[in-house]
Amino acid sequence: MLLNDATACTLDFASPFDVTCVTPDSNSQPQEEFFENLDAPPRPTWDSQRRGRGPVPVTVSAGKISIAGQPFDANEVTVCPKEPHVFTLNGSDYRGTLRLILDPNGESFDAVNNIPLESYLAGVIGAEMPDYWESQALKAQTIAARTYCLYIKKRFGADRSWDLSKTQAHQVYRGIDAESTQIWNAVNQTEGMVLVCKQAPPEALGADAADDIFPAYYSSTCGGHTENSKNVFGDSFEPLAGVPCPYCQDVARPKFFFWPMAEFDAADVTEKLLQRYPRLKQLGQITDIAPAQQSDYAGFCRVTKVKLSGTAGNSDFLRAEDFRLTLDPTGTKLKSTICEIAKSGDKWVFSFGRGYGHGVGMCQCGAQAMARQGKIADQILAYYYPNSHITRLY
Ligand SMILES: [Zn+2]
Repeated sequence: MLLNDATACTLDFASPFDVTCVTPDSNSQPQEEFFENLDAPPRPTWDSQRRGRGPVPVTVSAGKISIAGQPFDANEVTVCPKEPHVFTLNGSDYRGTLRLILDPNGESFDAVNNIPLESYLAGVIGAEMPDYWESQALKAQTIAARTYCLYIKKRFGADRSWDLSKTQAHQVYRGIDAESTQIWNAVNQTEGMVLVCKQAPPEALGADAADDIFPAYYSSTCGGHTENSKNVFGDSFEPLAGVPCPYCQDVARPKFFFWPMAEFDAADVTEKLLQRYPRLKQLGQITDIAPAQQSDYAGFCRVTKVKLSGTAGNSDFLRAEDFRLTLDPTGTKLKSTICEIAKSGDKWVFSFGRGYGHGVGMCQCGAQAMARQGKIADQILAYYYPNSHITRLY
């Protein structure tokens, strides 16, 4: 998904494009049928020979999406650029087609990029990892990202009109801007490869348990030990139990490995938390934030659950990662939950910070360090996702 609840955007094209409508009564049809319809005579089709005519504004008003001033009487409109199947949305280039889906309120729309998986991955890998990194690290990253994408699609895709968001909430996706020869090499050389493992729950595991994909999370810099997914995302796949990582310190920038103290205004912290988690209103003003659960890795601890106490005299708990991203959604200041939390005057202070990201699964800086030492992608993945193996889906 590229845009959420947008009221306007600007498109541009290097080629003519079609606009195909999905009428309200066909909206209940399965998604596959809709995609097949693209090959059938579109209804109605608006073939634009706009090449070189400049930007195309998209707006929404009175419950209708308008493209270049022409309103469409449909809940959903698909914009299909012809060869080379590229469009520009708000200044960024993407491959594939663009679905504009009217929100139920009729006042805004979502924009979803439909794109083949391998092209999508090219737009992800270049955004997630510098393309000048070792080719084996890029290949490991590609296999992990492909696995993660297919898992999220399988798990959640059927219930919503899109598979993944383009931010850190899922995987960063920057479209064609992120592509390069090195990135495409990593994608092409690992085509169809994913990681699989015996499936949770552990009591169901047996010699004949089927292998399947799992959410192959990854993060920038684990800080010295990757985290058990159970403590962060609540799932318990064998490859996500956490491993020591003596590697990332060699690659991560010092200010990311040991990040500087981060301060947040106490009133802002309460406001952000109450807005995101209305149930916390019963606490009143938050007066104490303390680690309630942490992983101890001999030398440092990653907080995995925080206890929040308030002026009303009671307390509640949040996963530490949810707490972190509520305070700092981009994670640029509060880079991880490996830190100490203290109150200083009217501020909350996070100090002795270490690592960048949630720490679950492959450590990206660690993967680069291993590749520099001559390890190949298979070895990197086997290290960070123990008890998994690579298989080829297509
Ligand atoms: Zn690491």
